[in-house]
Amino acid sequence: MRTHAAVLYEREKNQPYAQSLPLIIEEVELEHPGADEVLVEMVGAGLCHSDLSTLNGTLPRPVPMILGHEASGIVREVGTGVNDIKVDDHVVFSFVPGCGHCQFCAVGRPALCENGAKTNMAGTLLNGGVRFRNANGQPVMHYLGVAAFAQYTVAAQESLIKIEKDIPLDKAALFGCAILTGVGAVMNTARVAPGEGVAIFGLGGVGLSAVMGAKIAGAWPIIAVDLIASRLELAKQLGADFAIHAGEVNPIAAVRDLTRGGVEYAFEAVGNTKVLAQAFGATRTGGKTIAIGLPHASQQVSISGLALVGLEKTIMGSFMGSAIPRRDIPRLISLYQAGRLPLDMLLSPSLALDDINEGFDKLAQGTAVRQLIRFNA
Ligand SMILES: [Zn+2]
Ligand SMILES: [Zn+2]
Repeated sequence: MRTHAAVLYEREKNQPYAQSLPLIIEEVELEHPGADEVLVEMVGAGLCHSDLSTLNGTLPRPVPMILGHEASGIVREVGTGVNDIKVDDHVVFSFVPGCGHCQFCAVGRPALCENGAKTNMAGTLLNGGVRFRNANGQPVMHYLGVAAFAQYTVAAQESLIKIEKDIPLDKAALFGCAILTGVGAVMNTARVAPGEGVAIFGLGGVGLSAVMGAKIAGAWPIIAVDLIASRLELAKQLGADFAIHAGEVNPIAAVRDLTRGGVEYAFEAVGNTKVLAQAFGATRTGGKTIAIGLPHASQQVSISGLALVGLEKTIMGSFMGSAIPRRDIPRLISLYQAGRLPLDMLLSPSLALDDINEGFDKLAQGTAVRQLIRFNA
């Protein structure tokens, strides 16, 4: 079949993207799903900072490629060997397809799946296949096994989480990345307990989700740190007790002042190792720093080796919220339905697929939090 898609041919084009057009909107050919694969009609797809990092070269991936990894849709066709997912099912995508049998899947850490990581790097589906071709017959790669910026996509069944039909399907896309990553970092990676102090550096979709997670966890105080006043305001609406403008005050000193010596947990959701060092400095003795944002491969982090040892501090990475998507996405949806995870507040005005380049300009400038492409809107 033919499908409308936004294809990345060349990374590191200049901004504004509305002029340089790194994503070309075109018709591509999509094969039927093979064994263990599923054809999905997209309903919602979020613009995430990781997509932007691939556009700007921070996280290079092979091209041509269809980006997009935070998505939801309706199953239209299933391949052989797909038993748990049926036509018309509603699904959310997981951007790491857990193979189920590698050493990490075996110990319950599918976010670290070896086979999923390998095929995600290669830009293929979990079985190594590529199902898109452009008009020249050239294979078009799948971003993180999802390739969300297309009207239709084919994905491995391991990339899909079935959800109930009474959940607004377009917004449900956010459970696949922003919410899973941000709330997961608080609940799974850090395991924040009631009354523990939390600081969150960087208030994009993931950082603001971490604020919501900290609120649910009963953290106190919750301190939000950013350079954009409107985001600090939003963080307060989502449950932050204090907001620190890192351009106006020294955020390390400000966090330490508010907490008599630092927080138990500091989260970095920017992907900047200088900010990560600030987060580390804002933790108290015995505190933990959780790195969520993905920095450029060349960036090294510089922290006090003495404080690390003498103050028994910990620095740890959190990838995809250390999540088990099949366990966590239904739990997060329950919290949303109970009114305890107000993800609607993250949503900036939505877009059509044709306006995707402008959308990435807004994300790069920080003037949008979570923009959702609504297909057929
Ligand atoms: Zn993402
Ligand atoms: Zn695995």
